[in-house]
Amino acid sequence: MENRKKNEHVKCTVSQCRHNLVTDPYCSLDCISVGTHEPDPEVPECTDCNSFVKRDGCC
Ligand code: SF4
Repeated sequence: MENRKKNEHVKCTVSQCRHNLVTDPYCSLDCISVGTHEPDPEVPECTDCNSFVKRDGCC
């Protein structure tokens, strides 16, 4: 099991991501990259975490 550090500044519930702590709804990266897939974002759903990496053995 990887030894990952909780980043108290980045809350995240995406447990399918390799960087998520899962047992705690936080990210383990020091820094994440956030972007959008929309030309003119207006709601949170328009944004994406571009640091997401699919967890092995997930889904
Ligand atoms: S990289 Fe993005 S999606 Fe993955 S745990 Fe961190 S904040 Fe969540």
